[in-house]
Amino acid sequence: MGFPTLHHNVGIPHLNPYCYLLGLTALISLVSAYAAWQRRTTAPASRPFLLMMLAIAGYATVAALEAAATTLSSKILWSKLEYVGSGSVITLFLIFATHFTHRKNWLTPKALAWLWVVPILNVILVMTNSWHHWVWTGFLWSSARSNLLIYQHGPGFFWIMACVYAYTLAGAFLLLQAALRPSLLYRRQAIMALASAMIPLIGGSAYMLKLTPPGLNITPMSFMLSGLIYSANLFRFQLFDLVPVARDTLVESMSDGVLVLDQQNRIVDINPAARELLGTTVACVGQPAAKSLLQWQDIARRCYDSGDHRLAIAREGKPLRYIELRTTPLRDRAQHITGRLIILRDVTERHQAELDLQQANHRLQNQLLEIEVLQTQLREQAIRDVLTGLFNRRYLEETFPRELARATRKSYPITVALLDIDHFKQINDTFGHLGGDRVLQAFGELLRCHSRSSDIACRYGGEEFVLFMPRMPLDLAYRRIEKIRLAWEATLVEFGGQQIQSTVSGGVSTFPPEGRTIDCLLHLADQALYAAKAAGRNCIKHGFYQPLDQFSVRCGNHQL
Ligand code: GH3
Ligand code: MG
Ligand code: MG
Repeated sequence: MGFPTLHHNVGIPHLNPYCYLLGLTALISLVSAYAAWQRRTTAPASRPFLLMMLAIAGYATVAALEAAATTLSSKILWSKLEYVGSGSVITLFLIFATHFTHRKNWLTPKALAWLWVVPILNVILVMTNSWHHWVWTGFLWSSARSNLLIYQHGPGFFWIMACVYAYTLAGAFLLLQAALRPSLLYRRQAIMALASAMIPLIGGSAYMLKLTPPGLNITPMSFMLSGLIYSANLFRFQLFDLVPVARDTLVESMSDGVLVLDQQNRIVDINPAARELLGTTVACVGQPAAKSLLQWQDIARRCYDSGDHRLAIAREGKPLRYIELRTTPLRDRAQHITGRLIILRDVTERHQAELDLQQANHRLQNQLLEIEVLQTQLREQAIRDVLTGLFNRRYLEETFPRELARATRKSYPITVALLDIDHFKQINDTFGHLGGDRVLQAFGELLRCHSRSSDIACRYGGEEFVLFMPRMPLDLAYRRIEKIRLAWEATLVEFGGQQIQSTVSGGVSTFPPEGRTIDCLLHLADQALYAAKAAGRNCIKHGFYQPLDQFSVRCGNHQL
């Protein structure tokens, strides 16, 4: 195909206002690049930004040279080189947006290679245009005055524009997401970066839709405005200085694992602590959580429930670890869940400490229980007679005043019986001490059988016993003691193949009207017992005061 050869001030470059504008654009971009260079150590996104600014500067310079060129061949040459610049700018913009929004994990070497393949193919397409004429089908000089060349576009041009749109919009989408974040400073930075990206796109669209004067491509010039906004972003809103650095430093160096899932439950971010804990690599970014956490089904399941969970995780060759997992749904302004933030905290040491504490607590509780049992046993031992199992004298002395006070308060009688086995010494002498003990046990047993639950049966000492009977009037008590006496008389105690038989004598006294103290009551009962012994034993006597003489006691058979 032949092209029309149009002549215009042939040979000498023509410096027109476009050249100056484009030169200024290049200068502004270089200043931004320099500023980014100064901040290169603090923020990882500053490197792709710097490269993008250099690419814009190169692109604007080449565009200025194209504007100044006056021959068709030189204009076409510079135009071809412009595509190297624009291809680099859009690719670096996408890389910058990925870094800025903390998704640099996505940029694996493979992904990066794919990103660069498209603009490189496009440059090849432009460079070989003279063979296929897909990008430019022809060229026309717009007017003698303007020195503008009208490029007639073929399908290749629109394909390249489609790529430009795709890259720019993809980057813009990432920035838009960042712009919706709650941090005000970060949001402003993202909005300005977004605006900077959209201006050249609008410029390019205007050129493509032939809204600009014929042959005037304002795309490279619109980068001047972009450059100004980027500069403002750098200097006014400290792009790269604060939040991103803080975020990176914080999340990357956190001892807690951080995992971010998107709406489709794909992993979009994972910090080193989470990778270490789960034994995964960055390759899991972009993968569905269910797939990447295949061996952590417990964790994967709980990633979707809000709240705190504690889980045990076992990794091959490593000791069991306990982690606490907190899932927080991330919501947009309309409160729709847009993702999930999962914090994983290794609580193995705390878990162990809690277990130790629990065990110590358990041990302590057991010890307390043992002490309580021992205390009960001790108390029992302190108030029980070892031989007969009845209460002992100490218990009676402890209880008596209390019972007497209650009886006074509630006006009921108490009867006390003092019982003494007759001729016990003889039993000892005949059957030995053990035989005597056996008799004492048998009498204790008998006394217990004839006691009510409210009575206190007690071994008072030696072969003397006391039966303390609250709410028991004298006549009833007397009958009961008589019954005991008769029962004992009829009892044959087996010992060493022999049978021991004995009798018992007793004295009873009742409150009221008698003794108002334990000593008085027991003294009266003792006197009555003495009288019973004197009366020939094996009988029960009742002791009461003589009205005239408090200190002598009259004893007698109770009149039934
Ligand atoms: P009486 O009919 O007058 O009561 O005569 P008695 O022999 O029963 O009374 P005495 O006070 O003379 O003897 C009591 C004996 O009881 C003296 C003592 O050795 C004995 N004795 C005291 N405590 C025990 C004991 O725990 N076991 C045995 N086997 N004998 C005891
Ligand atoms: Mg005695
Ligand atoms: Mg006796």
